[in-house]
Amino acid sequence: MMRHPGFGQIRRGYIFGEIRERLAGRICDRHGRRLISLGVGDATRPITRAVADAMSRAAREMSVAATFRGYGPTAGYAFLRDAVAERYAARGLSLTADEVFVTDGAKSCLTALAALWGDVPMYLPCPAYPATADACRLAGREIVYLPCDEARGFLPRPEDLPPRPGVVWLCSPANPQGVAFDYPGLAAWVAAARRRGDVIVSDAAYAPFVSGRYPASVYEAPEGRACAVEVCSLSKGASFTGLRCGWCVIPRGIVTDGGIPLRDSWTRRAEATVNGVAYPVQRAAEAALPDEAAERDNAAAYLEGARLLAAALGAAGYRFCGGEVSPYLWVACKNGGGSWSFFENWVENKGLVVTPGVGFGEGGDGYVRLSAFCSPADCAEAAERIRNG
Ligand code: PLP
Repeated sequence: MMRHPGFGQIRRGYIFGEIRERLAGRICDRHGRRLISLGVGDATRPITRAVADAMSRAAREMSVAATFRGYGPTAGYAFLRDAVAERYAARGLSLTADEVFVTDGAKSCLTALAALWGDVPMYLPCPAYPATADACRLAGREIVYLPCDEARGFLPRPEDLPPRPGVVWLCSPANPQGVAFDYPGLAAWVAAARRRGDVIVSDAAYAPFVSGRYPASVYEAPEGRACAVEVCSLSKGASFTGLRCGWCVIPRGIVTDGGIPLRDSWTRRAEATVNGVAYPVQRAAEAALPDEAAERDNAAAYLEGARLLAAALGAAGYRFCGGEVSPYLWVACKNGGGSWSFFENWVENKGLVVTPGVGFGEGGDGYVRLSAFCSPADCAEAAERIRNG
C-alpha cells in the first residue's frame, strides 16, 4: 500500500486547534472575567459597502440565464488579473496580467507552490507561519530551518543559508514575529538568490501593514522579478478571511529544478486540483483592489490596538518586538519559561488568550504571539489587564 510521503510528518495538532482543546470550553479567568482572545489573526472589521455591492450584483447576474456563469478560467477572470496588475502598476511595478494567478487565499497557494519543485531543499524561517512548514511536509519536501532569534533581529539572514540552492520562503511583515525587512534587508535576500540560484517565495499576506522604510512587495527589490514569486491575500487588509481571495505572481523566466517554467507547473497543477474562485468573490476582489485606502484604514485600526498592547507590555516590563508594521507582537516569556506555561498563566490570571510561540516551530518556544486583530475595546481592556494583572 502507498503511504502519502508527507502526511506522517505533520504535527498531530495544528496550533489553533490545540489551543481550543486546552481551553476546553473555559470562558472566564480565575477572577470571573471573560476571556479575551489575542490569539488567531482573523479580521474583525467588515468589508466595504462597495465590495458587498459588487458581490451582490454578481450574485444576481448568476440568477439570470443571459449573465449566468459556470466554471471560470482556472487562473482567474481577466478582469481581476488586470485589476491586480493595475495595483502593481500604481506602485511603479510592472508585471503583466498573465503573470497573476487568482487564488482562494494565501494558505492554499503556499500548499500548491510547495508541490511544484522536485528535489531541492526548502529553506524556512523558524519560527514561521505553521501552514508554510506543513505545506512543505505534505509535499514530502526536505526542510532546512533558518534561525530568526533575537540576535538576528527575529528575521532570517541569507548568510545562514547552506551552500545548496533551494526555495527560500520569506514572510514580511513576519508572522509570528511582527517585524519586517527594510529595503536593504530585502535587497540582500534577492541579491543572494540571484547569486546562488535560489527561488524566493515571498508571503506578503501582511503587506497592507507596512509603510515608510519597509517594502510592501518583493518586486521593490532590484531584480526581484528574476527570482521571486509573491503570494498575496485580501484577507488581512480587505477583510476577506471569510470570502477567500488572493493571488500569486509568478513572473515569466522562473523555472523549477526540473527546468520547467514555474507558471506552467502551477497551471498544470491547478488544472488537476481546483476549479477557480467563485465569480461573486472575484467581483468583490475586483472592487476591493483599487481601494488601497480602505486596506490602510483597517491596518491603521489594528495597529492602534497593537500600540496599546505594546505600551502595556513595555510598562509591565516585558521584552517584545513587532506591533509597528504588523498586528502581531512577539513577547519573550518572563524568567525564560516555556510558551505553554505562559499561555496557561495568562488565561488563568489575566483572562487573555495568546498563541504559544512553540506552535510556530521549535525556535518559537520561550515566546508567545499577541494578535491585535480584536476590537478596539478588547485591545484596550487587554492592555489594562497586562498592566495591572
Ligand atoms: N500567510 C501568513 C503569514 C498568514 O499569517 C496567513 C494567515 O494567518 C496566511 C498566509 C493565510 O492567509 P489567507 O487567509 O489568505 O489564506
